Amino acid sequence: MKGYFGKFLKIDLTGGQAEDLLIHEDDRKMFIGGSTLAASIIYNYVKPKMDPLAPENPIVFATGPFVGSNIPMVSRAAICGVSPATGIWGEATTGGKFPLRLKATGYDGILITGRAEKPVYVYVKDGHAQIRDAAHLWGTGDFYETQEKIKAEVDDRASAACIGAGGEKQIHFASIMNDEGRAAGRCGMGALMGSKNLKAVVVSGNEKTEVADREGLKALVTEARDSIGSNAYTNAYRLYGTNFYMDLAMRLGDVPAKYFTRSVFPASKVHGPAFRSRYRMSGSACSGCPIGCGRVVLDFTERIPRVDGPEYETVAAFGPLCMNFDIDTVVMANHLCNAYGIDTISAGVSIAFAMYLYEKGTLTREQAGMEIRWGDGATLLKLIDLMIKQEGIGALLSKGVREMAKQLGADPEAAAHVKGLEIPMHDPRAYQGAALAYAVGPRGACHLKGAFYSLDAPGTEVGLDVGISFTDKNNPDQKGAFAAKVLSFCEIYNSLTLCQFSPLRVSLIAKILSAITGENFAAMDLLSFGERSLNLKRAINNILGVTRKDDTLPGIVRTPLSEGATAGIAPALEMMLKEFYAVCDWDWDTGKPTKKKLLELGLSRAARDLYK
Ligand code: SF4
Repeated sequence: MKGYFGKFLKIDLTGGQAEDLLIHEDDRKMFIGGSTLAASIIYNYVKPKMDPLAPENPIVFATGPFVGSNIPMVSRAAICGVSPATGIWGEATTGGKFPLRLKATGYDGILITGRAEKPVYVYVKDGHAQIRDAAHLWGTGDFYETQEKIKAEVDDRASAACIGAGGEKQIHFASIMNDEGRAAGRCGMGALMGSKNLKAVVVSGNEKTEVADREGLKALVTEARDSIGSNAYTNAYRLYGTNFYMDLAMRLGDVPAKYFTRSVFPASKVHGPAFRSRYRMSGSACSGCPIGCGRVVLDFTERIPRVDGPEYETVAAFGPLCMNFDIDTVVMANHLCNAYGIDTISAGVSIAFAMYLYEKGTLTREQAGMEIRWGDGATLLKLIDLMIKQEGIGALLSKGVREMAKQLGADPEAAAHVKGLEIPMHDPRAYQGAALAYAVGPRGACHLKGAFYSLDAPGTEVGLDVGISFTDKNNPDQKGAFAAKVLSFCEIYNSLTLCQFSPLRVSLIAKILSAITGENFAAMDLLSFGERSLNLKRAINNILGVTRKDDTLPGIVRTPLSEGATAGIAPALEMMLKEFYAVCDWDWDTGKPTKKKLLELGLSRAARDLYK
C-alpha cells in the first residue's frame, strides 16, 4: 500500500534508545492510520488495572496515508494512550503544521515508552532521532515561550508538540499544544507526556511517501476543494470559526448553560459577531486548509497582544456553562489554558460544577477559600490560575468532576462526565443519538464520536447510506441502530486523520484512499473499517475494566429542563442502548463485543483475550 513509510519510530525513554518499528502491510490494511493504527499498537501494552501514569503506558503520535497528500482538511495527527483522565482508551487529535511535519520525518508515527530520568524532548528530522535535555525548559515559561526556545535550538521549520505546567504537574486534563494554539485537548494526554518527563516531541523534515495514482489524486484534490468551497458552512467557519454555531445551537437546545440546568441565555453576548465587533481578529489554518477555522484575537492587551482562539467549545464552557457573559474573561481563560496546557472543556465543566455546588452549599466558602458565584469572570480566572498552580481549591478542581463529587460528598449523579471524561458543550438532551453516543463512545463523553449535531441535523447530507433516515432528532425510535452506524462512520475521522469539519462525502473519501494507496476501497468498506476501529477500542476498554454498566449518563443531563427547545425531553437511554447493543453484536451482560463479532472483524487476538 502506498501512502506510508511502513514504519514508526519507537523510542524507549527509560533506556534512551530509538529504533524503527515496522508496520506490516496487513496491519496497514486492517487499521489504516491515525487513532486506529495507534490502538493496534497500544493494544500490545494494555493490561487490566494499568496505571495510566506508569512508564509502561505508551503514548503514540500517529498520522495516516492522507497526511501530505494535498487533499485539504486531512492533515491531522492522533495522540493516543491509556488516558490519565479516565483510565480507559484515550485519544485526542491536533492540527496546525505538526501533523505534516511529523510525516515529513520519514515515519508514519512515533511510539514512546518508558520514562526519562530527567526532563527531555525528542527531536526527529529526516529519519534521525535525538533525545535531548529539556531541564532548561521544564518549569519555566508558557507553551509559546517553550515553542520559540525549541525552534531556536533546532530548526525554525520544526513543529513542537509541547506540554506546559499542566502536563508537567500531571494535571488530570492536561493538554498537548502545538503551532498556533492547536491543542490535543481531551483525555489528559499532556499528563501522560509529563509522566514520562517528556517536554516536547519536535518534528521536521522533507520526506515524502509515494502515491499510487498521482494524476487521479490531482483530480480528486480539485473535487475536494470544490466540495469544500460550495459547502454551506464554509463561509461561516471563515468568518466566525466554530463559534458561528452559538446562536443556532441555543435555538436547538444544544448549548448547556448554568452547569447543564438551563438552555436559554443571551447568546448575542457570546456569539461569533460579538467577538468580531469587540476585537480585531484574524484567522489561522492547518496546513493546506482552505477554510481556516482558527480564530486569533489581536491586540488583546499590551502584555498579551495575540490570543489563539477561542472556538465554540471553549466559549460555551467558560461562557454560558458558567453563566459568564463577559467575553474578555472568556478570551483570557482560553489563553491561560492554551499557555499552560489544560483542556478548556474539562476546565470549564469543573469550574461550573464548583459554582453549582457552591450555590447548593455542598462546597463552602471555607473549603473554597473564596466565594464562587455564577457569572463571576474574575473568580473563573482565579480558579484556572489555582488549577495550574495546583494550589487551594484549584488542586481539587483539576482532578475533574468525578473526583470533585467524591471528595466533596456531592451526589455522583450531579457530576457531568461519562467514564471520567467531562461532558462537552453539546447537551445530550438536544439529540437523542448524541446521548447514546456519549454513553457508549470509546473515550467517554465525546462530541466527536457521534457528531449528531451535524449528522442528525435537518438537511445534512454526508452520503452515508445506512438504510435509516430521520427527520426528528428528538425521536429515539431506531436511534440505537443509527448510532451504531454513525459511531462506526465517525471512527474514520481520527483514523484517516480527517478534520472533523470536513464536508467530504464518504464516497469521495474512499476514492481518495484508493488513489493514494492503490487498493480499492468503497464507501461501505470504510464503514466496516470504522466498525473494526470501534470494536478494537472497545476491547481495549473491556480489558481496562469497562462493562455495560459504564455505558450511562449522569442524572444531571437526564433530567428534563423546563425551558428552551428541549423542555420536557429526557434521553430514552435504555431503549436506545438495547438496540445499539443488538446491532453492534455486543453482549448485554458483559458489555464486550461477542467473540463472533470480533472474529468477523479480524480481531482474533482480542477475541482470544476477551474470551479466555
Ligand atoms: S477547518 Fe479548522 S481544524 Fe479543520 S483543517 Fe481547517 S483550520 Fe484545521
